[in-house]
Amino acid sequence: MDLDVINILDLEFDELMQKLETAGEPGFRAKQVWQWLYQGAASFDEMTNLPRTFRDKLKELYYIGGIEIKQRLISEKDGTRKYLFSLKDGKVVESVLMRYRYGNSVCLSTQVGCRMGCKFCASSGLGIDRNLTCGEMIAQVMAIQSDINERISHVVLMGIGEPFDNYDNVIKFLKRLNASDILAISYRKMTVSTCGLVPEILRFSKEGIPVNLSVSLHAPNDIIRKEIMPVA
Ligand code: SF4
Repeated sequence: MDLDVINILDLEFDELMQKLETAGEPGFRAKQVWQWLYQGAASFDEMTNLPRTFRDKLKELYYIGGIEIKQRLISEKDGTRKYLFSLKDGKVVESVLMRYRYGNSVCLSTQVGCRMGCKFCASSGLGIDRNLTCGEMIAQVMAIQSDINERISHVVLMGIGEPFDNYDNVIKFLKRLNASDILAISYRKMTVSTCGLVPEILRFSKEGIPVNLSVSLHAPNDIIRKEIMPVA
């Protein structure tokens, strides 16, 4: 993995514009690239209204998303799709697409592994490896959208990892999902699921991001909960 090459989906628009202008490109290039990225372009070669020399420069400096579908399982019963994604550094995470009458909902991972140690959860087995970046979370949505050729309307952060243990990237991700020039998903159609990190829940309540919050209890009382969930 070339550490100097950047996941372009990690950049905010202003950062992209600044980087391209520093590289000698006119200001409007950032808007062109941005539109391609969030229309689902999976490679710079697809950005056909950009000069070839510029596309070659982009390829040297950036990659798009950095995830690939390693395995896809499709339920014959209801069309649910389970994805195993490989990341740029060889790590893997899982996501799930659920098809409902009201739209397509994805359950995404926020970390590689998890350090919360819930006894019933396979994700806690090896502990935490690393946080996913905002761009890697966006890439999961884009990859699934592209795989089914349909829009994703709902996002649930309930895959591998504890979202509030990757707080800053998750906040950035939720704002990006909601942005009208990116995926334009309503906050009301997003759900953050936490095992119960109280300081982060309190901090989150002040962010002004009106998503649904789901707190996993997994037990009818605190005595049992403490046995199976160290966070309790
Ligand atoms: S917080 Fe979620 S992902 Fe982490 S160990 Fe508990 S149930 Fe598993």
